[in-house]
Amino acid sequence: MTLQGRTAIVTGGGRGIGRGFALRLAGLGAAVTVADLDLDGAVKAGEAETDVVAELEAAGAQVAGLEADVTDRAAVESMVAATVERFGDLDILICNAGSLTEIDESYAASASDRSMRGTFETNFFGTVNCCRAAAPHLRSGGWGKVVNISSLGALRPLAGGMGAPYVAAKAAIIGYTLSLAEELGSAGVTVNAIAPGSIDTPLTRGLFSDMDDEEAHSRLPMRRFGTVEDVARVAEFLCTPLSDYVTGQVICVDGGMSITDALHGSGLDDAF
Ligand code: NDP
Repeated sequence: MTLQGRTAIVTGGGRGIGRGFALRLAGLGAAVTVADLDLDGAVKAGEAETDVVAELEAAGAQVAGLEADVTDRAAVESMVAATVERFGDLDILICNAGSLTEIDESYAASASDRSMRGTFETNFFGTVNCCRAAAPHLRSGGWGKVVNISSLGALRPLAGGMGAPYVAAKAAIIGYTLSLAEELGSAGVTVNAIAPGSIDTPLTRGLFSDMDDEEAHSRLPMRRFGTVEDVARVAEFLCTPLSDYVTGQVICVDGGMSITDALHGSGLDDAF
């Protein structure tokens, strides 16, 4: 129980990777606020996934479910205030909420303002809103952890310029992460980013529909897509004292995708 007595917020925690983070942190003893746009909707979209708040409550964890849109600064401030009121403090923030660009609006040279701004709004400004609201609490505690969820795409743009708004917004998260790490280091707060490769979640299901699994897997060094648990294990490292001297880093959880040209000519360009 390395996080006993610690409090965490996970945004986009109702399903997919965020759900995995919430389960992992609560399993380590942290009190967790699971925040999402629509917690009931997240459960439905997660198909086989059960309601993470109910599951943690049943397991005796300290957990609060909360609906908050990360693009809404006031709602984010309320989310942080409600967490501090309920659990007494805030030590860990995982900015996981994110969304992909609409397919027909996704190319670098042709993406509309609507697409560019909309994608930045959720992925980048959502992260900024949460970090700004959490920073005073993290600072005052003398120990804290921020983990921002970027994407491998931020480091290795997808084939042919597709997904450009998403790639750019996720790259902006990395720049912001490095600045925040510099700023909060003296307060004992580490700030890092995770860049997932291809993780099997509701977000990515269907992206590779033109390819059979075997072909998609054969392009990856590890010969499989990542699981939510693969990412959650790395978040565990970044949210516990194991990583107290690790800050301003971007950790790719990608099964080696970054050392290959797996996404180029993969069929993802047709699917995206
Ligand atoms: P999912 O779509 O499965 O889950 C994301 C969750 O975030 C959803 O519940 C979604 O709610 C929520 N969300 C979206 N917008 C907002 C918002 N404005 N405010 C609050 N919550 C919001 O995605 P994943 O679990 O796959 O991805 C999690 C993170 O990892 C994202 O940031 C994603 O970009 C990143 N990532 C994922 C990869 C993958 O392969 N899966 C690869 C690289 C990065 P709703 O459905 O209601 O919109």
